[in-house]
Amino acid sequence: MITLRDVSVNNLKNLSIDIPQNKVVVFTGVSGSGKSSLVMDTIGVEGQRAMNKTYPLYLQNLMPQYEPANVGEITHLTPVIMMGQESLSRNSRSTVGTITELASMFRLLFSRMGQPSAGPSSAYSFNHPMGMCPECSGLGNKMALDIDRIIDWDLTLNEGAITFTPFSKRNWQWKIYANSGKFDLDKPLKDYSPEEKELLLYGKGFKVEVAKEGSYYTGSGVDYEGIVDRFNRLYLHRNQAKLSKSVRKEVEEAVSSQKCPVCHGKRLNEAALSSLINEKNIADYFDMDGETLIAEVETIEGTLVKGLLKEIKAILQRIIDLGMGYLHLGRNSDTLSGGELQRLKLIQQLGSNLSGLTYIFDEPTRSLHAKDVQNIQQHLFQLRDKGNTVLVVEHNLQMIQDADWIIELGPAAGEQGGEIIFEGTFDALLNQDTPTSRAFKQKVTLNGGAKEAETLLTVESQPVHNLKAFKVHIPANALTALVGVSGSGKSTFIKEIVMQQYPDFNYIDQQPIGSNSRSTIATYTGVMDSIRDIYSKVNKVKKGWFSSNAEGACPHCQGKGVIQPDMAFADKVTMVCDSCHGTRYREEVLQYSFKGYTIVDVLKMTANEAMRLFADYPAIEGRLQLLMDTGMGYLRLGQSTDQLSGGERQRLKLASQLNSRASVFILDEPSAGLHISDLEQLMKLFNKMLSQGHTLILIEHQLQIIAQADWIIELGPGGGNQGGELVFMGTPVEMLDFSASPTGSCLKNYVG
Ligand code: ADP
Ligand code: ADP
Ligand code: ZN
Ligand code: ZN
Repeated sequence: MITLRDVSVNNLKNLSIDIPQNKVVVFTGVSGSGKSSLVMDTIGVEGQRAMNKTYPLYLQNLMPQYEPANVGEITHLTPVIMMGQESLSRNSRSTVGTITELASMFRLLFSRMGQPSAGPSSAYSFNHPMGMCPECSGLGNKMALDIDRIIDWDLTLNEGAITFTPFSKRNWQWKIYANSGKFDLDKPLKDYSPEEKELLLYGKGFKVEVAKEGSYYTGSGVDYEGIVDRFNRLYLHRNQAKLSKSVRKEVEEAVSSQKCPVCHGKRLNEAALSSLINEKNIADYFDMDGETLIAEVETIEGTLVKGLLKEIKAILQRIIDLGMGYLHLGRNSDTLSGGELQRLKLIQQLGSNLSGLTYIFDEPTRSLHAKDVQNIQQHLFQLRDKGNTVLVVEHNLQMIQDADWIIELGPAAGEQGGEIIFEGTFDALLNQDTPTSRAFKQKVTLNGGAKEAETLLTVESQPVHNLKAFKVHIPANALTALVGVSGSGKSTFIKEIVMQQYPDFNYIDQQPIGSNSRSTIATYTGVMDSIRDIYSKVNKVKKGWFSSNAEGACPHCQGKGVIQPDMAFADKVTMVCDSCHGTRYREEVLQYSFKGYTIVDVLKMTANEAMRLFADYPAIEGRLQLLMDTGMGYLRLGQSTDQLSGGERQRLKLASQLNSRASVFILDEPSAGLHISDLEQLMKLFNKMLSQGHTLILIEHQLQIIAQADWIIELGPGGGNQGGELVFMGTPVEMLDFSASPTGSCLKNYVG
């Protein structure tokens, strides 16, 4: 048992708990109840700190520093590996191969077996100077001029066929072309012969007189240079910062990212690409999808690399098991769908043969379709069977049902949460009355009254990424759920098709609210400004006094409320400012009040309490009412937005959009991070938005929400090249009768 005693992190109420080891333990509870505070901020942080302590001091100082968690005692915690939501960023240097480590295994394979060998394994790496293509530095593509963007082929030179300002008639460089004597200035460029076109774009080797006759400079002339070469030399291949702003903008608009002409996108240099195994180079292997690649690896033989080949096959098999056999290793991580990236991140950990560790997963089923969840689950159980403890923060009903042990936090959010309300097995949970057990017992009702509303948009899909051509209708003033397995094309359809065709919408994604430690509930909801107005009027002093960003700021901490002293050889600590005691304000401000409360008192109030205080001020009351409507009346006005839980953040974004002009809202997985019992609240919010005339389009996986939609559009049937088609369009009731729909069959099980 991992034992925790007297934990008071964030909203946790001095709780104590024993967590069984070598089990899959699911932590659940309503959003804001304290799951992350317990699992990530306490167990995770303490585990990492304990691990860091085992390193020599000079190394410790180089590692990320964690503040000690507010814990009385913690024992029997084994080394912790944390898989958060943000632990892997997308960038053009990471690929499916680098994320899964298959890239480095193939490099090793080539350095041992490739003929002729290019050297050790970094000679096959596009991230290493020894292996990278010198032309594109291993990126595989280069910015190049797109000639059609600076030439209008329908016009003549005199009519302004060259649209790039520095080469246009207004600029002296125009004379290089106009005075060359080689071109008919009144013939449309599209009618030029191939030779003339070549000369215009790439010609060289003669001089052109560009100065006025009789002027001092006549006689020598300048070297003729075709438009493309001149553009590249003077505008593209030079320090862009030296160009004027307007020219730089024109250059940016004229170029696009194109395949590198030297390596043709393969990123590697000549030596690496000419080294072969079974007549294929390493880039050829990276171009194969997982299914093809594993079959190909079967044919490679070599006694010295047996272990390596076995390892490669095991990882490929895991990629296939997790439903991503259609991906190839060279795919850039910045083009992966959220669900694909999420599963790839797990590949490494899931395959580890280490034992005696504590793994922490934060909602590993997020962005995943019910079908994909089973795959992830199997692998988590395998980790346990290797002798590890697996802690999972989850809302997914299947994951909760199958867990060895369930711990539920609650009973509600924020200060009304922070306690353990259940610990035990699934059977025991069903005998209790908690938000989670109620979620299992509650019957899900299908939206039977779904209206076939008037069509708002008719959207025609075109081939982008994996999308095929199809046509869908989106009803006005209704709730449409866009569903489909991960990688089926939902985000592509929204971003590349819907948003391109209909610019008039609000898009609400899962990104954190600008994590600025100065942004608070009061500033984000916009009530702070009105509150400062009131304090300024009532007390007849400048408004700036009531701002912790202006005159009112505590001079000791500059209005941050905390200070971070620099202490060598010690963990970095954040300490509450001892001058303002964390209030952020200078002391003088406290002599001013409204109805007996100082500004600091008000910021300590919950939204519920503040509603009463400002009951006569409709502007403030209206905005605070939005917090109550979204179930967040318990938040304190002064709480910084970067301390909010994921679910709280999301609802706050939605709340700030309520009461706006009727329009189309597109929401990317609004249920992410929410407990089943929070979904009711979310549905209420959606219904309120619908009653205000809005149209809602959700990318969604939660069956509870899909069941209540007015209209469902399903893409699929699979991910990647097995998806991208319209599988189903209709009402939830119609979906149940449609056997070809993967979502339909899950929904059928679900509503029983
Ligand atoms: P859950 O993971 O169950 O959704 P959290 O553990 O993230 O909940 O949050 C529990 C409560 O603690 C929430 O009300 C949240 O706003 C608050 N909270 C989270 N982090 C901090 C922090 N760093 N400081 C103060 N309050 C916090
Ligand atoms: P979903 O949102 O349904 O999970 P996406 O629309 O994100 O799926 O992705 C659909 C398919 O298109 C996936 O196989 C994904 O890997 C691929 N894809 C997404 N973005 C790009 C891109 N920029 N280039 C190439 N393929 C992409
Ligand atoms: Zn290249
Ligand atoms: Zn201070």
